[in-house]
Amino acid sequence: MGSYVDALMSDLVAKNPGEPEFHQAVREVAESLELVFERDPKYRAAKILERIAEPERVIMFRVSWVDDQGEIQVNRGYRIEMSSAIGPYKGGLRFHPSVYLGILKFLAFEQVFKNALTTLPMGGGKGGSDFDPKGKSDAEVMRFCQSFMTELQRHIGPNTDVPAGDIGVGGREIGYLFGQYKRIKNEFSGVLTGKGLEWGGSLIRPEATGYGAVYFAHEMLSTRDDSLEGKVCLVSGSGNVAQYTVEKLLDMGAKPVTLSDSDGFVHDPEGVNNEKLAWVMELKNERRGRIREYVERFPGATFTPADPKADHNPLWALPADCAFPSATQNEIGAKDAANLVNNGVKVVCEGANMPTVPEGVERFLSAGILYGPGKAANAGGVAVSGLEMSQDALRISWEREEVDARLKNIMRSIHQQVRETAEEYGTPGNYVNGANIAAFRKVADAMLDQGVV
Ligand code: NDP
Repeated sequence: MGSYVDALMSDLVAKNPGEPEFHQAVREVAESLELVFERDPKYRAAKILERIAEPERVIMFRVSWVDDQGEIQVNRGYRIEMSSAIGPYKGGLRFHPSVYLGILKFLAFEQVFKNALTTLPMGGGKGGSDFDPKGKSDAEVMRFCQSFMTELQRHIGPNTDVPAGDIGVGGREIGYLFGQYKRIKNEFSGVLTGKGLEWGGSLIRPEATGYGAVYFAHEMLSTRDDSLEGKVCLVSGSGNVAQYTVEKLLDMGAKPVTLSDSDGFVHDPEGVNNEKLAWVMELKNERRGRIREYVERFPGATFTPADPKADHNPLWALPADCAFPSATQNEIGAKDAANLVNNGVKVVCEGANMPTVPEGVERFLSAGILYGPGKAANAGGVAVSGLEMSQDALRISWEREEVDARLKNIMRSIHQQVRETAEEYGTPGNYVNGANIAAFRKVADAMLDQGVV
């Protein structure tokens, strides 16, 4: 069977050269699926994985706009429509200078599986641009978003493709994108999620990814009769996911002690409490400042600058019970994973997408810690996006408690599916196999029903 995966991967690499993140994401899934193909050759015969790994459609376009100095800027925009087997394409938009086709294909591929796990009818997609919102004025961000949407609007719609936020795309960007869509199409529809509460958004959507990741960690710990109470937690990032991870950790009685951005990380041995978190939210979301400012405001903390040349990140070498990587892909390297394990980490729960390199994943699995891969652990965000779509379609809005209860139930159900599937395939406790296989079977069965399309 190993030769099947090798052949599939060598085809994929030849067809998609120079896209290592995409190769990494497909290889991980393919290796888990060996267990399925052995039992059920029909999936292999129908070339289901080969088809899922080939986007249904890739859209690439020019985004020209004028900056505050009157200079013309040219960026590249993308939308990858990966799979519509179980619903309209759904997945975020990322604005970051590192964005290129390979990053978005990996994210869109992961999204297909994640969305299938949510129990909601959503296909998978992802998009974005190499535009960097950092350091841009609101007016520049608005002009960029308007230009981006002027092209994207041809390809999306509430029953076709429903984008949301991701790195660099928060409430401000969704607002500008929505405004331009509405203006061009002359329709007010739920074409984007993560909208403002007064214009079609859902309560708990901003919180959903971080809250969901903590609910997932809670479920994992429950299997060992343990809880988050009193646990020291490492959190990376300081954006949307990191902020609401910290908020929910505090709710559950845990002690988050770190936050980071691309300049470095802060370590606060006394813990980031609610008052400090409110300050961070204001710093990041209103003033758009840098996390290093934390140590000026709270002198008990230390700041360690990022060293891109180092083979490890000292954030992951701090002793802790739990780790919540919530910044970006491959932020936990092989040495970082070893440091976490050697320091006795019990839980690694991924708020970010694919934050751990494959050697790191191997290390977590062989150490037998509770390791929740992103496509299961961070599915709360897209799940509440799905709930936002339902509310838009019904033209109603649910109370905060109702959305939160639904989110909690969805995370519990994802955990259960993943755990049971891992057991069914003879790898109990392996959440990677469980997530990949449970999601694959759902998408694959829909594809079998729908014929060769
Ligand atoms: P934000 O833009 O709100 O925050 C991203 C954070 O990560 C910032 O602190 C940013 O620092 C840091 N970061 C980004 N890129 C890098 C990098 N290359 N190196 C170091 N730090 C970096 O994004 P989100 O919080 O929304 O997303 C974080 C992660 O969660 C991503 O992997 C995303 O795909 C994933 N995710 C997000 C969901 C959502 O609902 N938003 C849903 C599911 C997953 P800086 O400001 O310096 O760039």
